[in-house]
Amino acid sequence: MNYGRTYNFSAGPAMMPEPVLEEIRDEMMNYRGSGMCVMEMSHRSKVFQQIVDEAEADLRALMNIPDNYKVLFMQGGATLQFAAIPWNLMKNGKAVYIETGAWSKKAIAEAKKYGEVIVAASSKDRNFSYIPDVSDLDIPEDADYVYICENETIHGLTYQQLPNTKGHILVSDQSSMFLSKPCNVADYGMIYAGVQKNVGPAGMSVIIIREDLIREDLDPKMPVYMRYDIQAANGSMYNTPNCWAIYCCGKVFHYLREIGGLEEMARRNEEKAKILYDFLDSSKMFRGTVEKKDRSLMNVPFVTESAELDAEVVKATKAAGYDNLKGHKSVGGLRASIYNAMPKEGVVALVEFLKKFEAEYNK
Ligand SMILES: *Cc1c(COP(=O)(O)O)cnc(C)c1O
Repeated sequence: MNYGRTYNFSAGPAMMPEPVLEEIRDEMMNYRGSGMCVMEMSHRSKVFQQIVDEAEADLRALMNIPDNYKVLFMQGGATLQFAAIPWNLMKNGKAVYIETGAWSKKAIAEAKKYGEVIVAASSKDRNFSYIPDVSDLDIPEDADYVYICENETIHGLTYQQLPNTKGHILVSDQSSMFLSKPCNVADYGMIYAGVQKNVGPAGMSVIIIREDLIREDLDPKMPVYMRYDIQAANGSMYNTPNCWAIYCCGKVFHYLREIGGLEEMARRNEEKAKILYDFLDSSKMFRGTVEKKDRSLMNVPFVTESAELDAEVVKATKAAGYDNLKGHKSVGGLRASIYNAMPKEGVVALVEFLKKFEAEYNK
């Protein structure tokens, strides 16, 4: 059906799969004979418990999450986790962070409030246009964890290879790449993601954490909400969770299983990204800003020769029905976020538009 929807290249909140939105619409007034909308339901009801259980089961199946990992659904976005991670995981008060862009910088600034932060590698010297060498980091023996932002949403870079943590646990912010490709959960101590980038509506984070890292001997001043032990012991329902986000994300988890899982999703994402990067590499007007080897499949920043022309292109794309292509204010230029739910047709149409723009400009 044609709903008159735009190709929305927003970095987040972002597009959701159309079949999922249709299902949500169909269940809006009366969820499966319950006589109410999910938004109106008690989180303590049997019918809602089933929604949570199914969402977790689908996510576990999708990612092959081992049994010794807990799945938590928490509010506060990824930003709350910037504080929750050091507060929950710093036993020795020391952690190693890799600085690759805006989101790792924010995580570092927050972690510094709770303990010693060692920035063991950074790509600040070249404006975060590459992933630094992380194969042989200087990691103190007593560091509690190694932290990465696995896909930097604003700068558009991603890790092809995880850091050598030398036996320390790895904590990864996967917000803007969560479920974009297969992921071996056992490589991590903890994975987390704000869901509004690549999964569902804003207002929730998914946390996947190895059980033995969940501690109870925590700072007594810590807000009860932020304690992973309390969240885990109460099935993410110590208090009222974001019921709506859990419901919508559950539908997306299920949808991803139905289309063939994360292998199929990765295949589609690689195909889409290649179309856009191939164009950027062949264009004389546009160029990508990230070193080829570290390019993100999800967020594609690019520029022209001038800020004025960048602005002109953004304006033209918007007028043509391609929304949210303006680069983040800290970086400028343009950025196309092509998450899971962006159809290939959207990327093809954008590239055709940019090609035409370039040809007409050069006339
Ligand atoms: C958007 C984003 C965040 C912040 O998410 P909020 O849910 O707004 O707190 C953190 N990390 C990454 C990688 C992001 O893309």
